[in-house]
Amino acid sequence: MEWLTDRAMLQRWRRQVQGQLAFVPTMGALHEGHLRLLRAARESPGRVIASIFVNPTQFAPNEDFARYPRTLEQDRLLLQEAGCDAVFVPSVAEMYHGSGQTRVQVEPLGSDLCGRFRPTHFQGVATVVTILLNLVRPDRLYLGCKDYQQLILLRQMVADLALPVQVLGVETVREADGLAMSSRNRYLAPEERARAVGVAQALAAAQQARRAGERRVEVLQAVAQAVLARHGIEQVDYVAVRDAATLAALPEGVIGDQDPVMLLAVRVGTTRLIDNRILA
Ligand code: AMP
Repeated sequence: MEWLTDRAMLQRWRRQVQGQLAFVPTMGALHEGHLRLLRAARESPGRVIASIFVNPTQFAPNEDFARYPRTLEQDRLLLQEAGCDAVFVPSVAEMYHGSGQTRVQVEPLGSDLCGRFRPTHFQGVATVVTILLNLVRPDRLYLGCKDYQQLILLRQMVADLALPVQVLGVETVREADGLAMSSRNRYLAPEERARAVGVAQALAAAQQARRAGERRVEVLQAVAQAVLARHGIEQVDYVAVRDAATLAALPEGVIGDQDPVMLLAVRVGTTRLIDNRILA
C-alpha cells in the first residue's frame, strides 16, 4: 500500500494507474463504517485509494477540530488489511497549497438542517472534496449514508459542476444496539453512550409509526422527539422528515408516494450525533 503525503507523490502514483479508480475520503479514526466503504470500493473493478485528512475548514472555531481523534498508525494497518492500494495523507499546508481564495458553496442545501447549526461546515466539505477530486481524479466516489445531507449535497455538487465521477452511497454500519458508528462516539462517557441508543430508537419508532399508516410529518417528528426525551436527550438540533433524493420539505407536510428520510441531530453531553433512516 502506497502512503502518499504530498501532491507530487499522489500525482506520480495516479499517472501509473491504469483502468478504474475508486476513492474513499475520510477524516481517519477509522471504524467498521469506513471499512464498509472500502470493501464496497474493493468489490468493484480497479484500484482503491483512500484519504485521511482532518479538514480544519469544516470545523467552526468552537468545534472539536483540536480534539478530533487521530489514530494514524492504527488507520494504516486497517487500510492495509482492507486491501487499499494507496492512501493520501496530506498536511493542511499540502492540501491548501495556493492562496485559498476559492470556496465551493452548494446553496440553499448547505444552509439547511445541519447547516443551520454549522453555518460554514458544508462549504468546507464541498471545497475540500472538490480539491480531492481534482487531485485524485477517481471514477467512483464512495460516501456513507450515515452523513446523509453530505451525500445529497456532494451528489448535487458533482451534478452542478459536471464533475466526471460517479457518486455511490453506502449503507450505515451500526453497533449491536443500533447506534450508528462514528469517530465521535469515543467522546461519549459510559452514561452518555447508554443514552445515545435513543437516537436509533427514535428513528425506529418513527419507522414503526409510518408502517402503521402515519403520513403526517409533524406526528412522526413528535414520535421521534418523545423517544429522545425518554432517553434524556434534551438538546435536539432538529428532527426532520424530507424528500430522500433532494432533502426538500414534503408538500403539505404529508408523505406522498416516495419513501422519505428522517434526519436528526442531537447533543449528548458535548458530543453532537447525527443519524437518519429511510421511512419505508
Ligand atoms: P468521516 O471520517 O467521519 O468524515 O467519514 C468518512 C466517510 O465514512 C463518510 O463518507 C461517512 O459518511 C462514512 N461513514 C462514517 N461513519 C459511517 C458508518 N457508520 N457507516 C457507513 N459509513 C460511514
